[in-house]
Amino acid sequence: MTWTRRKFGRLAGASVAALAARPARSGSRARVVIIGGGIAGATVAKYLATSSARPDVALVEPKQQYTTCFFSNLYLAGIRSLDSLTHSYQALAKRYGINVIHDTATTIDPVAKSVALAAGGKLTYDRAVVAPGIAFKYGTIEGYDEAATQIIPHAWNAGAQTELLRHQLESMEDGGVFVIVAPPNPFRCPPGPYERASLVAYYFKQFKPRSKILILDAKDTFFEQDLFEDGWNRHYPGMIEWLPAQFTGGIKSVDTKTRSIKTGGDTFSASVANIIPAQVAGELAQRTGLADQTGWCPIDPLTFESKLHSAIHVIGDATNAGDMPKSAFVANSQAKACAFAIASALTGSEEMMPHLFNTCFTFLAPNDAVSDAINMKPSGGSIKITDIFFSQVGESDEVRRQAARQADGWYNAFTQDVFG
Ligand SMILES: Cc1cc2nc3c(=O)[nH]c(=O)nc-3n(C[C@H](O)[C@H](O)[C@H](O)COP(=O)(O)OP(=O)(O)OC[C@H]3O[C@@H](n4cnc5c(N)ncnc54)[C@H](O)[C@@H]3O)c2cc1C
Repeated sequence: MTWTRRKFGRLAGASVAALAARPARSGSRARVVIIGGGIAGATVAKYLATSSARPDVALVEPKQQYTTCFFSNLYLAGIRSLDSLTHSYQALAKRYGINVIHDTATTIDPVAKSVALAAGGKLTYDRAVVAPGIAFKYGTIEGYDEAATQIIPHAWNAGAQTELLRHQLESMEDGGVFVIVAPPNPFRCPPGPYERASLVAYYFKQFKPRSKILILDAKDTFFEQDLFEDGWNRHYPGMIEWLPAQFTGGIKSVDTKTRSIKTGGDTFSASVANIIPAQVAGELAQRTGLADQTGWCPIDPLTFESKLHSAIHVIGDATNAGDMPKSAFVANSQAKACAFAIASALTGSEEMMPHLFNTCFTFLAPNDAVSDAINMKPSGGSIKITDIFFSQVGESDEVRRQAARQADGWYNAFTQDVFG
């Protein structure tokens, strides 16, 4: 069965309405500490604070403002400003009474149920939610470590890294080669590296038309490959070349001085390079034993409670959540299900089967966007896809223009849902 957007929206709304309808908890307020104020953490904070369980909610996040990774490829193309992608925590604090603490959580003691902060002090909790996003597996490409990101950015967390990459692209001579190293699965935003290639090609086409883009992939296939290859042929013929791991022998090392990237066979020289390394759950999850040997955090698919530590829930990119891709939409969907489960646990009310979704808009060019919508549900101890919708090769220009307009509308509504 294919999945229509109308049905998708109806179900997404239903789970939120059910959350708001929970009965209030009597007695003293339960304490929930949320670590990480990204998409997952900010959403769960807001939906818990507005649930009728009315817990005392503390949100720990070092950054004063959050810049979205989604739409950051439009910034690289010169189409959006970084300011337009940056959101404050003021509404969460003022409108919903969330205690936003700008600090870093250093450890969690699951026995004492407390979280230690870098600036000193501890927060105790009845329930904790860990939403630290991703960390990079430095060392899988020789020569690429944290220091190297200041020369060759990954730009896979938005902000200073994305700005650095944009400046390098602006300074690049016409006729240069931009090399993107795409990571192995699983990683944050499966279409992201290929959307990046598309939108940088759009920028090159206008300002540096003799330039080329080379994607050195750690994989042999990639998400929505047919849609991307069709888009690249139509918009940027001859500009983007994609080399799978089976062709190059994989990416072995990088020399930041010469910006050269050595594969199993050839060595490629870049004018500008963007290395997106292999990924695992955010550092705190590794340090506190919430991640298993896969590098990701196993969770109960109904409640998002850790399978390794009770009373700690993990949401967002850090999870190993079955078929769920690592996207902002998924992080938001998981956060609502988790808020509901925590509110139920705190009030002693009945748990419900969560509705879990992903929808994603991807730009091939500013007026040519494709989308996917996926409906998932807990099944057999994991989370499985039940319905899926994908854009198709050969859709009319008008359908694609409409998807690009919908994407803009989605960005505004979505960030309002998380931070507004
Ligand atoms: C180029 C690109 C394009 C993308 N496009 C899309 C898209 O179109 N649609 C979509 O749905 N998704 C998209 N994504 C994916 C999306 O950005 C992520 O899936 C989403 O941000 C995950 O949310 P999260 O809350 O798990 O992690 P994050 O948003 O990264 O948040 C984690 C937060 O935790 C904080 N933190 C980490 N450790 C600690 C600690 N110890 N103490 C306190 N705080 C801590 C960090 O500072 C950070 O703010 C894209 C990603 C990229 C890179």
